[in-house]
Amino acid sequence: MVKQNSIVMDEFKHICDLEVLDDTNDLKRLSRDFYNYSPILQSKLDGCMADLVVRPKSIQAALEVAKKCWELSLHLTIRGSGTGNYGQSVPLSGGVVMQMNCLNKVETFYPDTGFVKVQTGCLMSELNNVLKHKGRELRLLPSTWRTATIGGFISGGSGGIGSVKWGFLRDPGNLIGLDVITLNESPKLIQLDTQESEAINHAYGTNGIITSLTLSTDIKHSWHYIVINCTNLEEAINILKICLGAAIELKLGTILEVGIVEKMPKWFNENSISNKVLIQSTLDGIKTVEMICKKHSLKIENFGEENDLVSGISDLVWNHTTLQLRAKDKSWTYLQMLLPFDKEMELIDNLRSCYGRKILWHIEAVSQHGVPRLAALPVFKWTDENELNEIISNCKQNGAIIFNPHSLTVEGGGLGVIDSDQVKAKLRFDPKGLLNPGKLEGWNKKEKYVI
Ligand SMILES: Cc1cc2nc3c(=O)[nH]c(=O)nc-3n(C[C@H](O)[C@H](O)[C@H](O)COP(=O)(O)OP(=O)(O)OC[C@H]3O[C@@H](n4cnc5c(N)ncnc54)[C@H](O)[C@@H]3O)c2cc1C
Repeated sequence: MVKQNSIVMDEFKHICDLEVLDDTNDLKRLSRDFYNYSPILQSKLDGCMADLVVRPKSIQAALEVAKKCWELSLHLTIRGSGTGNYGQSVPLSGGVVMQMNCLNKVETFYPDTGFVKVQTGCLMSELNNVLKHKGRELRLLPSTWRTATIGGFISGGSGGIGSVKWGFLRDPGNLIGLDVITLNESPKLIQLDTQESEAINHAYGTNGIITSLTLSTDIKHSWHYIVINCTNLEEAINILKICLGAAIELKLGTILEVGIVEKMPKWFNENSISNKVLIQSTLDGIKTVEMICKKHSLKIENFGEENDLVSGISDLVWNHTTLQLRAKDKSWTYLQMLLPFDKEMELIDNLRSCYGRKILWHIEAVSQHGVPRLAALPVFKWTDENELNEIISNCKQNGAIIFNPHSLTVEGGGLGVIDSDQVKAKLRFDPKGLLNPGKLEGWNKKEKYVI
């Protein structure tokens, strides 16, 4: 049980370089993320609130917070920008929320490899700006890249723009190393190599407090956008697959069904309302896509080179598609899945035979272990949990792998299985189970993993 706010506050206010917030509005605001995309999570999380929010301005201050939480057995939930969708940074049982946004320095750039070491609270937009001057860019971006922190992406995200080439964050080669503060008897800052970092990657901050990360980057490209107009979803999937097989550099391949396109901003759909394939590629790649479309008698719209306006395309893809719909009507919600290989249309047709146009299809091209695949983030208006479960089981029966965005836990939002390395890392770095409690299902079976 956590102590009263005022008592807890006293324990923290003498720590140097630490901002302490206890105003109720701040506590409410900084205990939330975008969990309201899921009515299930909303009903579970709306009442959750931290007792205290702290913002360390130095690594030493973060270390002192860890020591205090260990000493007083206080729950500690780490927060970046709070753009997660599954309540990842929501403290389920109060305690302290530590926001990392002031630890935001780009520490080292390694010109020989292109690796970059950066503090966890750095905004991805700012990191990309620094990288641009080194001729590099981030491989993977969530569609929230303007506001999300790099630490929040590694801990709570999975992939996004760039996943068509670079796969997902947990794929070997994307994360090189981590600096982590432990929450054990003598909290300290330790450096983890690539292999040890795997267990902390995408663990919702349940098994270590990341202070810095070392990442691989890509060569900076000059990106261009083209949109292909298609008469139906099957045609859109076929042409996207042809583009995926072409010898071109791709950053994004998105399909938006016509029912979704209708609800997109005017600057995007004013020329035509149809099923659309959005491609982000280099100029030579765009020329190839134009040639492919000519051969298949498909109309294109050229959005030109990336600039402030055109980079608005990233506001239409990945989970920003859902955001656009919810901006018009809050009853839209969504699912996430990997579609069955080469049987995508079969699944969609089967789901359509049950639900008609209730489900609208939004598809993203990804690379899974080096193989081009199609993922989907279909949107639909919320009815109730029974219908959601029915849709999920229908998708599974048709061969989809579901990543359920209506679940609170690392496992529920992932493959549904316990990663023993994540639990072992928590036993080592957070033996009292104080970090973001309730989010790692495997912790309930920790006895199995004690060595
Ligand atoms: C409209 C919309 C679109 C989105 N699109 C994408 C997308 O394309 N791809 C994608 O993967 N996600 C997406 N997301 C989810 C989310 O934006 C990303 O996961 C984002 O990267 C989270 O960053 P953040 O700084 O907001 O992290 P937060 O939400 O603050 O935190 C996320 C998790 O990381 C933990 N954490 C944060 N910092 C640390 C740290 N230093 N040490 C340990 N744990 C830490 C938190 O405890 C929490 O569990 C989207 C969300 C929205 C609302």
